[in-house]
Amino acid sequence: MLDYLVTNARIIDPESGRDFMGSLGISGGKIAGLYSPEEGAKERALQKLDAEGGILVPGFIDVHAHSDNDIPCAEKLLAMGVTTVLSGNCGRGAVDFDTFFGEFEESGYPVNQAEMTGLSSLREEAGQENVYQCASAAQREVMKELAGKALDRGAWGISFGIEYTPGASEEELKEMALIASGAGRLITVHVGSRYPGDTDSLAYILEMGMKFGVRVIISHLVYMFVGDPLRKAMEIIDRCRAKGADVWVDSGMYTAFATGADSAVFDEQNITYGGDFHFDRLRAATGKYAGRFIDLEKFREIRRDFPGDSLIYDPGHPEDVFTAYSLKDVMVSTDCIGNPPGQGHPQGAATYPLFFRVMVKERRQFSLHEALRRCTTIPARAMGCGGKGRIAPEGDADLVILDWDRLHERADFPGLGNPDAPPDGVKHVFVNGVLSIENEKRVPGVLAGKCLKGGKPCAL
Ligand SMILES: [Zn+2]
Repeated sequence: MLDYLVTNARIIDPESGRDFMGSLGISGGKIAGLYSPEEGAKERALQKLDAEGGILVPGFIDVHAHSDNDIPCAEKLLAMGVTTVLSGNCGRGAVDFDTFFGEFEESGYPVNQAEMTGLSSLREEAGQENVYQCASAAQREVMKELAGKALDRGAWGISFGIEYTPGASEEELKEMALIASGAGRLITVHVGSRYPGDTDSLAYILEMGMKFGVRVIISHLVYMFVGDPLRKAMEIIDRCRAKGADVWVDSGMYTAFATGADSAVFDEQNITYGGDFHFDRLRAATGKYAGRFIDLEKFREIRRDFPGDSLIYDPGHPEDVFTAYSLKDVMVSTDCIGNPPGQGHPQGAATYPLFFRVMVKERRQFSLHEALRRCTTIPARAMGCGGKGRIAPEGDADLVILDWDRLHERADFPGLGNPDAPPDGVKHVFVNGVLSIENEKRVPGVLAGKCLKGGKPCAL
């Protein structure tokens, strides 16, 4: 007897390319079987769900987020069809994993979550709070010990936010990469830049990854580079891949990025260097000016009085979103982060439906199958989480059923709309075989996500 039988679905496995009308059985949180409509009619199940011709695919895997046990943030991801998230990115991740996982288990969570430890967090824990200074030899010893312990206790890898810690020395980066490599884990890297369009940090990281044999995920490519530097960055990645680098890349659907007002990204000496910063492209994402464009005076006020606020900067070149995805196997990611309700960047609630609408329906840059691979199979491989990202017996029953014609984002930038608005057309979502979104509505109280602990990396 199955737990669930989903009937009348167009089932697509992006891994094999299998695409057929039929039924899917769920038992014990796993995919129990795939059936033709006739076979499905003979199966017995505790509950049945008529997909009404909807597209049934693996739940989406977001490899770049800052959900970090924040339930409202994960609820927004779930509403888009995300069932697994990799958090703790850009150098900011948990350090004490017993506490972190303990909180997760105690509260429950809407989606599966893996968590990185982060270089910036480790530096602070070791007593280096100045982002422009390198960690001392003694501090590096503490960082190494903490990083080793974090990986031992289940951290998925180590994230770097080089732009946020311009003072981090090459020794720090190398030591962390070696620890990740030794544990068979990966590093995710928000690269740095010492001047507009600087690609040196990207090249350095990729060379280091090759040398130390560590898997690298380059984070939110189009948030790091637009214009000619983006093309240059893509060439560097291609060249390193040709040399055998184990490098993976994620990117979002916007060029306008959001980050902390008090971060090094917005230190005045950094934004004014090179003269390529335009205040008419800067707006507040949160706080008293949320949704409004801000001038130098308000910018200084926010940084002085509300350093925890988040700002959105748009460097222009919106077409570069499409350029970034033209690189082989670039994965879709959100960069979502917890924000006060109705404030923040819409990326956490709009990215996936926006990706399918623009890249498949309108531009036809990707076939539906290729677009699905970028949200499921490829991120499952990049993370090294077996059992996810495909529709096959014994696979995890993390599933989404889309109403393709209705699929459309509704979230928009503050000032223009509601950045939290859930999309249309994400009809049903199962997390570990538990129905968590039903008929586009959140099933109240269901927290079926598992805490994914890094261990021996498993091949898909
Ligand atoms: Zn980042």
